[in-house]
Amino acid sequence: MDIGARLKAFVGRAAATAGAGKDPVNLPMIRHWCEAVGDTSPAYAGDAAIAPPTMLQAWTMGGLSGHVDRSGAHDEMFALLDGAGYTAVVATDCEQEYLRPLRPGDEITFGAVIEAVSDRKTTKLGTGYFITTRMDIRVGDELAGTHRFRILKYAPASNRSASEEPGPRRPRPVINRDNAGFWAGVAERRLLIQRCGGCGRLRFPWLPGCNGCGAQEWDTVEASGDGTVFSYVVMHHPPFPAFDPPYAVAVIALAEGVRMVSDVVGVAHDEVRVGMPVRLEFQQVDEELVLPVFRAVGRASGAVG
Ligand code: ZN
Repeated sequence: MDIGARLKAFVGRAAATAGAGKDPVNLPMIRHWCEAVGDTSPAYAGDAAIAPPTMLQAWTMGGLSGHVDRSGAHDEMFALLDGAGYTAVVATDCEQEYLRPLRPGDEITFGAVIEAVSDRKTTKLGTGYFITTRMDIRVGDELAGTHRFRILKYAPASNRSASEEPGPRRPRPVINRDNAGFWAGVAERRLLIQRCGGCGRLRFPWLPGCNGCGAQEWDTVEASGDGTVFSYVVMHHPPFPAFDPPYAVAVIALAEGVRMVSDVVGVAHDEVRVGMPVRLEFQQVDEELVLPVFRAVGRASGAVG
């Protein structure tokens, strides 16, 4: 039987052994939750308090010590998928349904079933299966709510040839309708600044409308490439894949008057200074990624960084 059929056979099975809430629904947990999320609704305080509906899953959680003996179909599915190379997992979405308010003193029980397994799908992350688990939360025999949780368990696209990947790559820019023109400019090694069609104001980063007059019409001007370091930080921690700390991240004031965040190259991280003159250049980071960076003016090209 192929893996798709084996996965479908899990539908309807208990995802994990049913459990009981570690604590009854209680006011201190409700208060901490409301403080954490900033919810000041009077419905969640006082003698007649109910629990915020969105706390539904919180009552089922095992905390640091966890719940014991909850293995079930979920673990079996994961083992099957891991063994077939679908080793990565990402949570995709969650839905909750609230059927009865939970009140202090309620003792909840919960059980989860594998509700659905998709056909094999290919996403930008990789190829795999969407798995939907439904948890039912009850007080006695009464259903208080359901919590549906969907994940994608997949074979990462970049796993296809680990030996060809020398190391983690810089994150790709997220290109959308609002900034596509900027990245199209970068591809042509031009740094484009938006100019409002209403008031002529320049703006950066790219936005759909003008913060000055609200007009949505715009065109672009090409930056001359001259700028100065307006401000900077030196990153030591936390480490990010593909970045080698310490390194400086700067806000560059462009000659045109707008500012942008970028790298300063050609100078050691501890020699970057506010007011330092810099000059735009385009760095070919890898075979597909080009980024605008700024080189300290008057430094030998390629000296450092
Ligand atoms: Zn404007």
